[in-house]
Amino acid sequence: MKGILLIINLFLWISGISEVTATDIVFNPVDFGHRKTTSRTIDVVVIHSTYNPREDGKYNKEKIISQFRRYGVAAHYLIDRTGNIYQLVAEQHVAYHAGKSRLPDGSSNLNSRSIGIELMNDTIDKPTDKQYEALINLTEVLCKRYPVKFVVRHSDIAPGRKTDPWNTDWDLVLKKLAERNLEFGGEDKSHANTNNEK
Ligand SMILES: [Zn+2]
Repeated sequence: MKGILLIINLFLWISGISEVTATDIVFNPVDFGHRKTTSRTIDVVVIHSTYNPREDGKYNKEKIISQFRRYGVAAHYLIDRTGNIYQLVAEQHVAYHAGKSRLPDGSSNLNSRSIGIELMNDTIDKPTDKQYEALINLTEVLCKRYPVKFVVRHSDIAPGRKTDPWNTDWDLVLKKLAERNLEFGGEDKSHANTNNEK
């Protein structure tokens, strides 16, 4: 594991994104909830929250992944309560996380062009500071890697159907992204990123 992290660090350093704390990414690939593609355009990041509703550990990673398996869904990333980031699906593959959804600009079919990030959080708790930090760091990495135009909540793209990420301070997320020159979320800009027209 140390060797892999070293290689990741080296890669991040060479690609000029060494300032981002992405060293906590742990590969935990799943064999469901996605389809493989050789190439795709990624310009959307969708934030979710998830937990195990059974009584045997609501933030147990394996139980949460079992839930995903049961429903045939997956997101690319899962962030636990202490800010560890698990990668379930390779970024180039299409993960089934958004479902029937639509962007503010009217476009649909969002799984094919998005990266999904799940925060371990239920409908009562709030995300932890470590989770916010990991989320911002990961989103920043993705925005540097891809021409991301939209960073949205699941509830933004599936209103009336989805309400996650629950109890997430979205203004705080947008503010922290803005501090890194990643501007999303203006009402009239429909969450468009104006600083990242790569
Ligand atoms: Zn969701």
